[in-house]
Amino acid sequence: MEQQDAGRDALSRIDTGKPHPARMYDWFLGGKDNYPVDEELGRQLVAFAPVIPVMARMNRAFMHRAVRWTAGQGVRQFLDVGTGIPTEPNLHQVAQEVSPDARVVYCDNDPIVLAHAGALLRGTPEGVVDYVQADAHDTAAILEHARGTLDFDRPVALSLIALLHFISDEDGAYELVERLKDALAPGSFLIMSHLTPDFHPEEASRKVSDLYRAGGLTMDMRSRERFVRFFEGLEPVEPGVVAAEDWHPELGEPVPGQENVLSGSYVAVARKG
Ligand code: SAH
Repeated sequence: MEQQDAGRDALSRIDTGKPHPARMYDWFLGGKDNYPVDEELGRQLVAFAPVIPVMARMNRAFMHRAVRWTAGQGVRQFLDVGTGIPTEPNLHQVAQEVSPDARVVYCDNDPIVLAHAGALLRGTPEGVVDYVQADAHDTAAILEHARGTLDFDRPVALSLIALLHFISDEDGAYELVERLKDALAPGSFLIMSHLTPDFHPEEASRKVSDLYRAGGLTMDMRSRERFVRFFEGLEPVEPGVVAAEDWHPELGEPVPGQENVLSGSYVAVARKG
């Protein structure tokens, strides 16, 4: 009942006058939880770069492989900030396939994700899945809520997947990641993916960023050097910082159409010593 009320309240707060990252991403993935404003900007981006939907799936496929790998290392706890609208398989489904008792806390600031939290919260009977509606900057609220489900004295995999390019340096991107990293026990992991201009012609990346900005969104595609800064103090696991498609491809299936497509995302999984 509580969940239903939260869902109804969330629906009333959805702003359909401006594109939102979660809904645009849903549109790229072929979902139905988006509005004409999202579709309009999505169409402009795809008209310019028709491979964007494949790039979005390649990012999603990296998440699956990284969670599979991390769960395979024995990690049973996951904190996922910037979860997005549910798309099967969701992170908890991948983790609980490896470890049915895995405990997952999801977090997003978009009311449309809260409205769909019901779908996110259906996990295994042995595991636990929890959702907190919070902004990534509000790390105190995220951690306080997460502590109700996760034991931070034990390893946690913190995943920030396709989130930080929506948060600029001036807006405290590095500081918020540091605060979350600080809360992690030794043996924890940080899993990240992030759009970069490094793999495509400068002109193309600029055009994509400009389209996002014209839609009122932040889009800061970071260089390799700026991406690597998020991992300060952590030890990246093999194969280090690479393009999404090059991170342990053997742990999953290739995305249809990904041959000859560059994901345009840097990824890494790093361990806290
Ligand atoms: N991690 C998912 C979704 C990526 S889309 C995946 O890779 O498949 C980016 C998500 O980050 C969206 O759901 C958006 O709502 C969320 N987001 C953007 N800025 C945020 C912020 N400041 N706080 C919390 N979530 C944020």
